[in-house]
Amino acid sequence: MLGQIMDKQLLISSLLQHADNTSGNREIVTRTAEGPIHRYTYRDAHRRARQLANALRALDVQMGDRIATMAWNTHRHFEVYFAVSGSGAVTHTLNPRLHPSQLTYIMNHAEDAFVFVDANLLPLIESVADALHHLRGVIVMTDRAHMPETALPNILCYEELVAGHSDDFEWPVFDEKTASSLYYTSGTTGNPKGALFSHRSTVIHAYASALPDVLNMGESEVILPVVPMFHVNAWGIPYGATMVGAKMVFPGPKLDGASIHELLVDEGVTFAAGVPTIWLMLLAHWRETQSSAPALKRTVIGGSAGPESMIREFQDDHGVEVRHAWGMTEMSPLGTVSIPKPSMTDDNKRMRKQVKQGRPVFGVEMRIVDDTGTELTHDGDAFGNLEVRGPWIIDNYFKMDQSDSHNAQGWFATGDVATIDPDGYMEITDRSKDVIKSGGEWIGTIEIENLAMSHPDVVQAAVIGVPHPKWDERPLLIIVPATDKSLTHDDMTDFLRNKLTNWWLPDDTVQIDELPLGATGKVLKTRLREQFGDHKLPTV
Ligand code: AMP
Repeated sequence: MLGQIMDKQLLISSLLQHADNTSGNREIVTRTAEGPIHRYTYRDAHRRARQLANALRALDVQMGDRIATMAWNTHRHFEVYFAVSGSGAVTHTLNPRLHPSQLTYIMNHAEDAFVFVDANLLPLIESVADALHHLRGVIVMTDRAHMPETALPNILCYEELVAGHSDDFEWPVFDEKTASSLYYTSGTTGNPKGALFSHRSTVIHAYASALPDVLNMGESEVILPVVPMFHVNAWGIPYGATMVGAKMVFPGPKLDGASIHELLVDEGVTFAAGVPTIWLMLLAHWRETQSSAPALKRTVIGGSAGPESMIREFQDDHGVEVRHAWGMTEMSPLGTVSIPKPSMTDDNKRMRKQVKQGRPVFGVEMRIVDDTGTELTHDGDAFGNLEVRGPWIIDNYFKMDQSDSHNAQGWFATGDVATIDPDGYMEITDRSKDVIKSGGEWIGTIEIENLAMSHPDVVQAAVIGVPHPKWDERPLLIIVPATDKSLTHDDMTDFLRNKLTNWWLPDDTVQIDELPLGATGKVLKTRLREQFGDHKLPTV
């Protein structure tokens, strides 16, 4: 017997419609690419998204067409999200830090018909335009006064395009399983692969992300997604924040500590989300200027492991609660959030949980398995390949009939190696390809990196395996010291000795000026392995 409930489709357009109806006057604030602060409301955004939807129709954009964006977090990018998906087409967000060859590959693979681009990023599109086989036009996201010179044909000005169309537009109703947005993983090897999300997965993910023990989004919050809208839809925050009608603050292209601080203070931001590299810059700014952001209650750190030193500095020095979160492109991206349980009152125990990646958000199932696929126990010690299942996790990559990422029971292999403790908290010990195999045993690099970064004179740290004649591989510690500081291998060994099991201690330490970062701000270990793969360890 079936329940007797209306078969209403979960569509992205309904999020903005709802925000207009129920929180229409709530503000959306942007530091524009042109410079000045722009402010308007959900009602204005909805009106302009409808105008843009009419414009897309006039450009003959059809259901399912891929429409690329290469843009910072701004109100215009927000409008494009809703106009494109709401019309039944698919946004394809492009990361401006991609190498031109990758950009060409993914734009052709996605068959992008149009690209919306910020004026200062237009040169990137110009550099690849000749190699794009499906592109019909380029829309520069600015007004006429700021339109850059370009030799590209079929260039349109965003503000003119919007102004040229009426806001009389009914959002179409279609199957909630329709594709809504596409984002390619910045795979360090091989070609990037596309994760294609649907209206249903996006709306369910928005419900889940707004929950109190997830991102805790509500109308009274002022939310600053520093995480880019070109990286897995800014972790879905533009959808979740719209669902609840929160005030939203978009940082535009300026992501340095001083600029983020200014927005936090001027706009009374209560909740901000970003990767550790962003928070390093903000915390350094706060240290230098002896400042804080009084309204800021919470921050989410994700994308890479949030070190204990960073969590403590936010919480102890600035009164900002840290929520450490884990996820990945293929998961829309939310997987786990680490919040200590109410029963955990001891400060050290709470911290031990916070440095872990946390418990799954309702909807995500999670398990760890060994190389034969046998499930491992949740004792906090056994570590194995992390697998997930759930309604916002891809069941295949875009245009790939088969891939070896899913097993017969539908589990998706994340490529992460993790433990799960008896309280249900998952801790990533490594990417499977970064694990160091020493004498047949695994050494997880993340724990060593986090400990090294808790040294007061270490700004960043990375650990890679280098060849060893007896043990196959041994850990090499690579550090970026604080300005004017220098640390020897003995200094680091003394510091790490009682904190790590002896055989996990790195065999050598090198200092470099900065770590190579990939397009999404993660440390590029492949580059470090190229650079230091031949490093001669002192004991060899
Ligand atoms: P991406 O698909 O580019 O978002 O990258 C996802 C990967 O980033 C995950 O599979 C993890 O390896 C890593 N990652 C994300 N969040 C965390 C975290 N909190 N701690 C450690 N690694 C993380």
